[in-house]
Amino acid sequence: MLEQLSCTCDRCETPLGDEQLILSMTTDAGTRRAYECSCRAVTITVVGDEAVQRAERADERRP
Ligand SMILES: [Zn+2]
Repeated sequence: MLEQLSCTCDRCETPLGDEQLILSMTTDAGTRRAYECSCRAVTITVVGDEAVQRAERADERRP
């Protein structure tokens, strides 16, 4: 359903999306994303191995 909107503001629980995204940084441990809510709180999320595994599965499906 709304997988990409699964993160919310730490302070006011407003759903965070691309409009609030201020920084995206890829590291060995995963992708870190910083969102700035309209309430001015900054929420950091880490997208871990799950997304990577998903991508690998998609590759395996190729004929
Ligand atoms: Zn907020």
